[in-house]
Amino acid sequence: MSREVPFWQRPLESLNPAEWEALCDGCARCCLQKLEDEETAEVYYTHVVCRYLDPATSRCGCYSERSEKVPECVVVTPELAATADWLPGTCAYRLRANNQPLPGWHPLLRGDQTDMKRADIMIGEIAISEEHVHPDELEDHIIDWID
Ligand code: SF4
Ligand code: SF4
Repeated sequence: MSREVPFWQRPLESLNPAEWEALCDGCARCCLQKLEDEETAEVYYTHVVCRYLDPATSRCGCYSERSEKVPECVVVTPELAATADWLPGTCAYRLRANNQPLPGWHPLLRGDQTDMKRADIMIGEIAISEEHVHPDELEDHIIDWID
C-alpha cells in the first residue's frame, strides 16, 4: 500500500501556487532589514522591519503589490531558496530547498501558529518599523539571534 507524500515533502519545483504559499510559515523574518559587510559579504539581520508588515499578524499589508511598493522585497523562488544563505535558517523554503524537514512548530505540521508563537519565531510584535528608525542608525539595531 502506498501513502501519499505530503506536498511539503515534495521538491519545491513541483508545488502548485497554493501549496507554495502554504509552505510559508508567516514568520516575517525575511521582512527584517539586513546589512551586508562590503568586504566579507556577511549579512547581518536587524530588528527593524519593513513598513508594510502588520505587527499584530506578522503578515504583509501589501502582499499582491509588494514588488511595486518595495522594489527590494525579494520574491522567493525555488532557485533563490537553494542559494540564498541570507534567508533565515528556519525558513521553510530554505529548509526544503536543502532537503531538510520542516521544524516541528511549523503550522503545516501543527495545524496553526500556536507552537511557532510559543517558540518566538514570529517577529511582528518585537520588530521596530523602519518608519521609526533613521537609515543611518540601522547598525545600532543589529541582532544575533537569527542565523
Ligand atoms: S513588502 Fe511585504 S513581504 Fe515585502 S518586505 Fe515588506 S512586509 Fe515583507
Ligand atoms: S522567512 Fe521564509 S517562511 Fe518566514 S515569512 Fe519569509 S519566506 Fe515565509
